[in-house]
Amino acid sequence: MKKHVGCLCQIIPPFIIDELKKAGVAIPTNTRTISREFRERRADQLALRSSQSALVTPPTKNADRFVYDSNTTQHQRLLLVRKEGGAATVDPIVNTVYENAGIIREYYKTAFNYLSVDNHGADLILNVHFGQNYANAFWDGDEMTFGDGDGEVFINLANALDVAGHELTHGVVQYTAGLTYQGQPGALNEHYADVFGSVIKQVSKKQTAATADWLIGDEIMGPSLQGQALRSMKAPGTAYDNPLMGKDPQPDHMNAIYKGTGDNGGVHINSGIPNKVFFLVATGIETDKAALLWFETLKTLKPTTNFKSFKTAILKQAKKLAVAKRVPADTETVVKESFLAVGL
Ligand SMILES: [Zn+2]
Repeated sequence: MKKHVGCLCQIIPPFIIDELKKAGVAIPTNTRTISREFRERRADQLALRSSQSALVTPPTKNADRFVYDSNTTQHQRLLLVRKEGGAATVDPIVNTVYENAGIIREYYKTAFNYLSVDNHGADLILNVHFGQNYANAFWDGDEMTFGDGDGEVFINLANALDVAGHELTHGVVQYTAGLTYQGQPGALNEHYADVFGSVIKQVSKKQTAATADWLIGDEIMGPSLQGQALRSMKAPGTAYDNPLMGKDPQPDHMNAIYKGTGDNGGVHINSGIPNKVFFLVATGIETDKAALLWFETLKTLKPTTNFKSFKTAILKQAKKLAVAKRVPADTETVVKESFLAVGL
């Protein structure tokens, strides 16, 4: 059992929040302060929990969903408004996040026989209406939290399946590879969250690699940002270019890799490189086969895996799965060509 060291992983990266502030957009100014407070409080709880889990194996649970209403406060697990098997409520946001969590749970179970985030059926804790106009959604190590957005730039973050899939996958990564949330391992952590956010959206919409839009967060863009998205896996660097958010900084090739210190060493920036690889592989062997290859590889990665060792791990798994006839025979070739296309 890996240590439960989680990230405070937010769907909207710090550089977008900074651009919005520069543009004078009334995104709650305490967004990053809230994040820091959470990180500190959560770090204490997680340290306690991981020292406990080293001694006891967690009991298997049923991955029950619990939806809490933060009622525009910054408190999590405030009012329990819907639990597993409970009737729909009058609040459509509560019902949507409940349904979406069910779709994500079912995907991991059906595709990989993997139950909840920890494969031990951990309960899925979902908080909605967090803060006032809070324009973000995050996984913080043991639960998911969604703000309502400001209604202009970002609309309710709990509505989008890819956002929930992204955040929940941070939980899956935490309990499998445990990728460190910094530099290239952090970009791979972000990459995995985008991959399964996008894959689950494709499965739900019955799309193929060719018909999917490969956009992340396009459904949370408010009236002033219509037609844009947070990221594009198909064409990193082209998801947005507007006076409010600035320009999408994601590279799609190693020759443009971000080497700065912002965004934990570019975790939401350099994820564009492996994102492009996944798009190319999915286009070559179909999304479900690429997803299987990526998930099987995830279980073999280390917390410090970088892009180069990631390529080695994917190739090794491609060979293994092709022998077992679980992916097409030419998968290894497709994978090699796809990594070459981004300079790896
Ligand atoms: Zn993330």
